[in-house]
Amino acid sequence: MNTIEKDNAYLASTYARYPVEIVRGKGSIALDAKGESYIDMGAGIAVNTFGYADDLYVEAVKQQLEKVQHTSNLYYTAPAVELAETLVAKSGLKRVFFANSGAEANECAIKTARKWGAEKKGTGAYKIVTLMGSFHGRTVTTLSATGQEVFHKYFDPFTEGFVYVPMGDEKALEEAIDDKTCAVMVEFIQGEGGVNVLPDSFVKKIFALKKSRDFLVIADEVQTGNGRTGKYFAYQQYGVLPDLVTTAKGLGGGLPIGACLFGSAVESVLGRGDHGSTFGGNPVVAAGALSIVKRIDDALLKEVEEKGNYIKEKLSGKQGILEVSGMGLMLGVSVACDAKKVVSRCIEKRVLFLTAKEKVRLLPALNIPYPLLDRAIEVLLEAVKEEL
Ligand code: PLP
Repeated sequence: MNTIEKDNAYLASTYARYPVEIVRGKGSIALDAKGESYIDMGAGIAVNTFGYADDLYVEAVKQQLEKVQHTSNLYYTAPAVELAETLVAKSGLKRVFFANSGAEANECAIKTARKWGAEKKGTGAYKIVTLMGSFHGRTVTTLSATGQEVFHKYFDPFTEGFVYVPMGDEKALEEAIDDKTCAVMVEFIQGEGGVNVLPDSFVKKIFALKKSRDFLVIADEVQTGNGRTGKYFAYQQYGVLPDLVTTAKGLGGGLPIGACLFGSAVESVLGRGDHGSTFGGNPVVAAGALSIVKRIDDALLKEVEEKGNYIKEKLSGKQGILEVSGMGLMLGVSVACDAKKVVSRCIEKRVLFLTAKEKVRLLPALNIPYPLLDRAIEVLLEAVKEEL
């Protein structure tokens, strides 16, 4: 049996995989088992920040692996500390808890908001308002936080205390917040929900209500964080400062990590024993993440913004392209045909794109070179034309 046949035989069938086995890669080029090369416009769903086998990343991981691959959180290790210090500087928040995934980072933020609610507002103040179309993870609680009905089946009972409002609906938001609300949780750009950018006025409303009604704002930056949108975090596009920020994906550059960042209102909410993780802050993962985070500087962020604008310009007004949403290198392309079929066609033409709901989604490595972007755009336009 080959890998695909064995996968079908031995792995849980939870993923609808494309028929491509990736065996190696460099930068934004992936090679399959047959030796075919692909331009990767998905970067492992916004994970491989500097692409495959990035030299500095590999070196940072290797060096740490040869020293200490793991120790328990009963002892101190420098990579996690340095990573936390860097994230604090980049975010304007105060402290960090390290987990292993986006869902876990969100669990940490939800627990913190609930404890804050109980302490500040009294028993029962655990209500969290989230947005329709959001995606916050696959654990039972983060599924509950996710504002999409499709995720609220089979696994009852779900965690109670979440209410959903339509994205951009200021009146519904205002009505949903009451004295039992401890937090409003948002993605500033919804990723899985279809690359939907939060309107500026809606964000202003959240923060105005926060002032008058006293609740926390949780920014789920699992997908939007770490330079993806052209700022280090997407909330920085709006000039606001959330109380809790979660991130994962691109932070680790390829190895599993999640982080929950705490602002001044909540930096002391979680105490000893309130939360923990065996692998959280693992030195190898943290050393790799540090090598990524340190390189997301102003010059790179400007480049990300420019590349995003470049892609938008190249696609806008072309045959079969209805609209391009998103910021920086997190883009959703509405096409006048079936996006999934377009993506399959692109694979045949050796370019890997993603979908998000009805859109073709682009999440390439932040350092993808322009010639590869040009070729990927050309292929996408060709594929759309063929599907029309
Ligand atoms: N939050 C957002 C915004 C995401 O996009 C995702 C994953 O797609 C998650 C949370 C869950 O992250 P993970 O799959 O690392 O648990």
